Amino acid sequence: MFENLSRRLRESLDKLRGRGRITEADLKQVMREIRMSLLEADVNFEVAKAFVARVQEKAIGQKVLESLTPAEQVYTIVYNELTDLLGGKAVQPELRHEGNLWFLVGLQGSGKTTTAGKLARYYKSKGRRPLLVAADTQRPAAREQLRILGERVGVPVLEVADNEPPEVTAQRLKDHLKTDYRDLVIVDTAGRLQIDEPLMEALARQKAVLNPTETLLVVDAMTGQEALGVSKTFDERIGVTGLVLTKLDGDARGGAALSARFVTGKPIYFAGTSEKLEGLEPFYPDRLAQRILGMGDIQTLLEKAQEAELEAPEKAPHEFDLNDLLNQMRQVRKMGSLGDLLKMIPGVSRMLPPEFSVDERAFKRVEAIILSMTPAERRNPKILNASRRRRIARGSGTSVQEINRLIKTFEETKAMMKTLQKTQRRRGWFRR
Ligand code: GDP
Repeated sequence: MFENLSRRLRESLDKLRGRGRITEADLKQVMREIRMSLLEADVNFEVAKAFVARVQEKAIGQKVLESLTPAEQVYTIVYNELTDLLGGKAVQPELRHEGNLWFLVGLQGSGKTTTAGKLARYYKSKGRRPLLVAADTQRPAAREQLRILGERVGVPVLEVADNEPPEVTAQRLKDHLKTDYRDLVIVDTAGRLQIDEPLMEALARQKAVLNPTETLLVVDAMTGQEALGVSKTFDERIGVTGLVLTKLDGDARGGAALSARFVTGKPIYFAGTSEKLEGLEPFYPDRLAQRILGMGDIQTLLEKAQEAELEAPEKAPHEFDLNDLLNQMRQVRKMGSLGDLLKMIPGVSRMLPPEFSVDERAFKRVEAIILSMTPAERRNPKILNASRRRRIARGSGTSVQEINRLIKTFEETKAMMKTLQKTQRRRGWFRR
């Protein structure tokens, strides 16, 4: 998402670079282009208009035209305005010491059930004790889906029966909490394909009885402007405290995501960034603005590394074997798609061609090769003679050449690690 917008904004802003002074006409031209880029990204018309008006006003107020670094100044103004448009400061849902009950509402297919699982995983990793409530009695497979997600993250799931009155659910919840202490209850409610009156009424009643401390609206960022109209209705009927934008990893133009805060007036708490359970990030307006403007996002990258608990191998280089290689690769993969990770490094997205992508299948092949080896072979690749290599090629669905290449690279890397360590020891970086 945002790739096109990102490229176009940068192209427009880059036109101002390397010039001593810019004229009012230059500035107006760039503003026109920014407005077009926003509209083409499906940003709400009013939002685009207001955005450009504010940037222009600031540029004039800050006397950009008289400045010696006009391009940098306009860049900064756009960055600040973009951050503001996305909500300014990051906001998280209210989390009390205990007694938190969160309602997840949204249309069917928006990613509600997935998000419930992701939230449970996220807050469990932060030391909370979540409980999931499967109350989506509308979509046939939703309860089972949540039960499976709950099992995977190790969080219990309370299932609501068909046509169960909210009073009964409330009582069952109370009973459950008596024997199993939980400080965050996440309720996956029923969705429909479109807004309809019976659904809104049922939700409103459920909400009145269960009395949640937060009501999170799950919005599919791929569905464009229409999603925002739906959000308004949900807010009017049910009352929404914040948004979760899902599918930000998709290739939609991003306008709904950019306009959501402005149009609904609600903070964006989280962004869904993949189908996987790890694919949930707290929403930081400044970081997204940085990413859109190609400034990278080093904070998120570091947090991901921390979360994946990337560890340097404990072993000395001469002991490093193919098992370690596999472990290291898997650790990095836990952080997410390589292409996305690369773009978080400041400057990298400006260097890469727009169609750049990492062939993630290459990883799978290396993994398959190593997994087809015996433990002895993984520990000591030196024993890999021609017949062993043929066997591994067959077992992994690859070729002997690929295996040769992998082993060669591996040995070279090991040699490099050894040299590196010697240098470091000499310079006193390594103490033994
Ligand atoms: P619900 O009907 O609202 O409960 O929707 P689901 O949770 O079943 O999600 C609908 C589809 O969207 C599923 O295929 C999910 O895997 C997918 N999905 C949910 N969140 C994300 C996300 O952040 N990124 C991507 N790529 N897919 C998502």
